[in-house]
Amino acid sequence: MNILQQAYDLNSFKKRGELLIDHICKTHQSRESRKVIPHCHPDEQYQYWKNSFTKQSDPLELFENVINRSILYQHPNYMGHQTAIPAMSSVLASLVVDYLNNAMGVYEMGMVGNAMERVVAEHLCEKFALGDNAGAFFTSGGTLGTLTAIMTAKTHFLNNNKDSENLCILTSDQAHYCVERAALTMGLGQDGVIKIAVDDQYKMDIEQLKEQYNRAISEGKKVFCVVGSAPSTSTGAYDDLQAIGNFCEQNNIWFHVDGAHGAGVIFSSKYNYLVKGIEKADSIVMDFHKMMLTPSLCTAVLLKDKQYSYDTFRQKADYLWQIEDNDWSQGGKRTFETTKSMFILKVFTLFKEFGDTIFEAYIDNQYDLARGFASSILQNDKFELAYIPQSNIVCFRYINCENSNHFNNLLRQEIIEDGTFYLVQTTLDGKVYLRTTFMNSETTAIHTDKLIRFLEEKAENLKILNSKI
Ligand SMILES: *Cc1c(COP(=O)(O)O)cnc(C)c1O
Repeated sequence: MNILQQAYDLNSFKKRGELLIDHICKTHQSRESRKVIPHCHPDEQYQYWKNSFTKQSDPLELFENVINRSILYQHPNYMGHQTAIPAMSSVLASLVVDYLNNAMGVYEMGMVGNAMERVVAEHLCEKFALGDNAGAFFTSGGTLGTLTAIMTAKTHFLNNNKDSENLCILTSDQAHYCVERAALTMGLGQDGVIKIAVDDQYKMDIEQLKEQYNRAISEGKKVFCVVGSAPSTSTGAYDDLQAIGNFCEQNNIWFHVDGAHGAGVIFSSKYNYLVKGIEKADSIVMDFHKMMLTPSLCTAVLLKDKQYSYDTFRQKADYLWQIEDNDWSQGGKRTFETTKSMFILKVFTLFKEFGDTIFEAYIDNQYDLARGFASSILQNDKFELAYIPQSNIVCFRYINCENSNHFNNLLRQEIIEDGTFYLVQTTLDGKVYLRTTFMNSETTAIHTDKLIRFLEEKAENLKILNSKI
């Protein structure tokens, strides 16, 4: 066999495929006996792969090394950032996606995927009750989705207002940085985003929204978009979408909802109250690779009026290009990507296998767990809770110590280097907090109780260590 024949050899594909799935299952079954994060210094990690790079080996050996050296979201002690633990059938779907490698930009190159996108889009628009003109498309990530949605808002604004000076966006000071990044990318400059203060539960303060809006207008600024968070990333607090929606309606401003993390509560009859008013949105961004059990990246961008989506990337040179009936099938006309992955299959697979119920079961499980954990923290006088959690994101800190900011920093560093648990940290109002996001559906109160004991022990050890220095 020559080298190209080897690259496409089916026998080794089949053999390796079986062995790989076997290895993944074994890793998964024994995951609680290993650390969630085998932490190692970045320079050391680099050296390891630098050394490995030129040594030829069987890919299987490589894959096993990769798995061994990686953080394992499947470990129930994984309580860190908001990345999905993919459902197993969506992992299998990934194999089909990568084998076909169909590109979504042009219909013929991605026939199935483009049609599937439309089916899922219609289902989502109906769920969010966006009305008869609504439509959606999919793109690679919430950051890119937010940029696309805000660009659409701007295009819409400029259709009615020719002057593009002094455009600005209003959002809370807890909003994800992708809003600011979108403004910078669009050339709105540093003043392109006005940050609204939040209340004591980290939701946008609606009185402040009105005040800041009036001030902006009196200064000659043109507010073309308000972004509400559902929820914001640091604290998981849902803005009052009903109130923001009403405000936007009264002032005729585009209302965008950043639901990258938590718009999925629409599937839960227990928690859908958190997005009450979301049907007022002109656009919504929702990540499937966060709370929707799908591998990264997969983001839905929903629009109340789907026609606007064809204007976003309509460049001057294309002015002759008419909207055709079947424009929906040419993915590239509405998204940044030209060669876009057929990731929609991963989502379609889950809907088809389980229906909406899988998402409801997941949201309920994770949001319930966070509430339970928060009440344990409240009952423990060594810890302080930052706020009552609305989602699966909980911020808390150790307070049975001096110089709490410094101490919680040290504590988090200890946790990472130890690797038994994985959680992150954030700063709110100048205070350093430990931050957990309960992403793994196999995490239970047993694990969160263990986390509390673990933190107490680590903290005691740290205190002894510090007193010796
Ligand atoms: C994660 C997140 C984003 C960014 O999405 P990516 O898919 O990581 O690009 C935007 N907004 C919120 C609220 C998020 O939680």
